[in-house]
Amino acid sequence: MKIVARQQTCIGSGQCVFTDPDTFDQDDDGKVLVLRPLPGNASEEALARQAVQVCPSRSIWLEGADG
Ligand code: SF4
Repeated sequence: MKIVARQQTCIGSGQCVFTDPDTFDQDDDGKVLVLRPLPGNASEEALARQAVQVCPSRSIWLEGADG
Protein backbone atom coordinates (compact mmCIF):
# COMPACT_ATOMS: atom_id res chain seq x y z
CA MET A 1 0.00 0.00 0.00
CA LYS A 2 1.36 3.36 -1.02
CA ILE A 3 0.21 6.94 -0.48
CA VAL A 4 -0.10 8.92 -3.69
CA ALA A 5 -0.74 12.64 -4.19
CA ARG A 6 -1.71 14.69 -7.23
CA GLN A 7 -0.40 18.23 -6.97
CA GLN A 8 -2.31 19.34 -10.07
CA THR A 9 -5.63 19.13 -8.25
CA CYS A 10 -4.46 20.02 -4.73
CA ILE A 11 -6.01 23.29 -3.62
CA GLY A 12 -3.63 23.78 -0.72
CA SER A 13 -6.21 23.59 2.02
CA GLY A 14 -3.79 21.85 4.36
CA GLN A 15 -6.23 19.40 5.92
CA CYS A 16 -3.94 16.48 5.14
CA VAL A 17 -1.03 18.15 6.93
CA PHE A 18 -3.23 19.01 9.90
CA THR A 19 -4.49 15.42 10.11
CA ASP A 20 -1.23 13.58 9.47
CA PRO A 21 1.80 15.90 9.66
CA ASP A 22 4.27 13.01 9.68
CA THR A 23 3.08 11.92 6.25
CA PHE A 24 2.08 15.14 4.47
CA ASP A 25 3.59 18.57 3.99
CA GLN A 26 3.05 21.48 1.62
CA ASP A 27 5.55 23.10 -0.71
CA ASP A 28 6.08 26.85 -1.11
CA ASP A 29 2.98 27.06 -3.30
CA GLY A 30 0.88 25.20 -0.76
CA LYS A 31 0.75 22.03 -2.85
CA VAL A 32 0.79 18.70 -1.11
CA LEU A 33 4.02 16.75 -0.59
CA VAL A 34 4.16 13.15 0.59
CA LEU A 35 6.91 12.79 3.18
CA ARG A 36 6.25 9.15 3.97
CA PRO A 37 4.61 7.23 1.13
CA LEU A 38 4.75 3.88 2.90
CA PRO A 39 3.01 3.66 6.30
CA GLY A 40 5.09 1.63 8.72
CA ASN A 41 2.29 0.22 10.84
CA ALA A 42 -1.46 0.10 11.31
CA SER A 43 -1.73 3.38 13.22
CA GLU A 44 0.26 5.24 10.57
CA GLU A 45 -1.98 3.73 7.91
CA ALA A 46 -5.10 4.73 9.83
CA LEU A 47 -3.93 8.34 10.03
CA ALA A 48 -3.18 8.39 6.32
CA ARG A 49 -6.67 7.07 5.62
CA GLN A 50 -8.14 9.87 7.70
CA ALA A 51 -6.16 12.41 5.69
CA VAL A 52 -7.46 10.91 2.46
CA GLN A 53 -11.01 11.26 3.75
CA VAL A 54 -10.68 14.91 4.72
CA CYS A 55 -9.02 16.12 1.51
CA PRO A 56 -11.62 18.37 -0.16
CA SER A 57 -10.22 17.93 -3.67
CA ARG A 58 -9.56 14.17 -3.57
CA SER A 59 -5.91 14.78 -4.35
CA ILE A 60 -4.49 12.03 -2.15
CA TRP A 61 -5.31 8.34 -2.10
CA LEU A 62 -3.96 4.95 -1.17
CA GLU A 63 -2.75 2.75 -3.99
CA GLY A 64 -2.98 -0.96 -3.61
CA ALA A 65 -5.55 -0.60 -0.83
CA ASP A 66 -8.85 -2.41 -0.86
CA GLY A 67 -10.74 0.69 0.00
S1 SF4 B 1 -6.00 18.15 2.01
FE1 SF4 B 1 -5.98 17.80 -0.21
S2 SF4 B 1 -6.26 19.82 -1.12
FE2 SF4 B 1 -5.63 20.13 1.03
S3 SF4 B 1 -3.38 20.34 0.94
FE3 SF4 B 1 -3.85 18.17 1.32
S4 SF4 B 1 -3.89 17.23 -0.73
FE4 SF4 B 1 -4.06 19.44 -1.01
